[in-house]
Amino acid sequence: MNKIVDRKVQVITSKYGLRKRWNKIFKKFITEFHKGIDLRTWNLHFYTPQNILAPEKIEIIDIWNNEKWGQGVSFKFLDNAKFGVGVYRHTKVIHGLEVGQVIEKDMVIGKSMVTKYMKLIKASHHLHFEIWTGGRTTNPVLYLDHMKIKKKIKGKK
Ligand SMILES: [Zn+2]
Repeated sequence: MNKIVDRKVQVITSKYGLRKRWNKIFKKFITEFHKGIDLRTWNLHFYTPQNILAPEKIEIIDIWNNEKWGQGVSFKFLDNAKFGVGVYRHTKVIHGLEVGQVIEKDMVIGKSMVTKYMKLIKASHHLHFEIWTGGRTTNPVLYLDHMKIKKKIKGKK
């Protein structure tokens, strides 16, 4: 079974594209372009960091740390190179992960994490997943469907 977050079904809590969000700090709606999709990483009654997997054979091309978004990683898709580059945000990568490393499908590359900023805006715990194809973002759902990764949109059965 193909996965990104190590759970049976990926729950999409926020879709790709324009979205209107209530900003809890400024107390108003803001419109923004969401460059990826958010995949739930929490359980209903408790929170434990979830394993984040390589969805296929990948090559790590960047690892970064950012106060707002936390740690993250960019990688090249090697089995489905036409998709280009994948990005995981809010992912604490495993110790020793290095740029240039090739990771096999289903290997754990990190754990979900919650940043101070996410706590501040009371964002629910999630993995932000982006895909850059030919220098532009594309809808990661296309990749999920291509890989037959089981998904569900929050609130829909
Ligand atoms: Zn997001």
